[in-house]
Amino acid sequence: PKLDKSAKIFVAGHRGLVGSAVVRRLRILGYTNLILRNHSELDLTNQSAVKTFFSLEKPHYVILAAAKVGGIHANNTYPADFITINLQIQTNVIDSAYRYGVKKLLFLGSSCIYPKHAPQPIPESALLTGPLEPTNEWYAVAKIAGIKMCQAYRLQYKWDAISAMPTNLYGPNDNFHPENSHVLPALMRRFHEAKVSGAKEVVVWGSGSPLREFLHVDDLADAVVFLLENYSDLGHVNVGSGKEVSIKELAELVKEVVGFEGELVWDSSKPDGTPRKLMDSSTLAKLGWEPKVSLKDGLVDTYKWYVTTQ
Ligand code: GDP
Repeated sequence: PKLDKSAKIFVAGHRGLVGSAVVRRLRILGYTNLILRNHSELDLTNQSAVKTFFSLEKPHYVILAAAKVGGIHANNTYPADFITINLQIQTNVIDSAYRYGVKKLLFLGSSCIYPKHAPQPIPESALLTGPLEPTNEWYAVAKIAGIKMCQAYRLQYKWDAISAMPTNLYGPNDNFHPENSHVLPALMRRFHEAKVSGAKEVVVWGSGSPLREFLHVDDLADAVVFLLENYSDLGHVNVGSGKEVSIKELAELVKEVVGFEGELVWDSSKPDGTPRKLMDSSTLAKLGWEPKVSLKDGLVDTYKWYVTTQ
């Protein structure tokens, strides 16, 4: 069922990659009553602040896109931050949303919740069937707890909480930090800076052989609203593009989009992470949703955004 266009929708994390795309999508669809709070207005790790916010605002719907996120290096360096901040944010928001009468909540997770050696493509049923990839298990454990919290509240309270697990995302408002970001924005920035400075070489981490699936965040935002409107069940739902590329292919494609003409140098002292991470998104496909943005078009779009905002 379509939601009322004047429904009060709280998008937690609206300045991030995912939250900002969800806000754009909701606005395009004509939702007029979005509730947004930046970090200085509402600290989601502060339980009493979150309770007060929900008791005063009483949103009807919540999209929980606030999280501490980062790439392989950041996850390795700040494990305590990744587990604690994420557990705090999601526990505070999910519990207060339930207690203060939110009709439905959508929790956003990540494909790293799945075991390192999960069958590929990874079905939703692979959750908790094996050990996690060690480089991001702190974040993954927090996200798994979020999925389980949504399920627990549905079972115990008949409350409509659902979870979506996006694959590797990219797009406007991504984090382009040189060390702490994910591979796609990191490479885009490095190629761009090399092009501008006239450097001959760009360093890329690892072996180049890991395979990754990428989804433009506008596609994810479309899927999030689709799920909010059309899905209400216990199981979490994968959201992917269904298309894999090797890190080497990705690096070549980003290089082409940016227009860098030098060489790639592979730094094998950096970790590869999990060898392959393709999600099985057939649950969502069966519900009638499909992605629209190709990797090439998405990279061009993201590079335009990067150049104009730098
Ligand atoms: P992951 O998907 O959780 O492993 O996270 P990342 O996006 O950080 O890394 C994906 C893959 O890209 C790994 O094999 C990295 O070693 C590789 N990679 C290559 N260059 C970079 C880079 O500059 N930054 C990051 N974060 N990863 C890189």
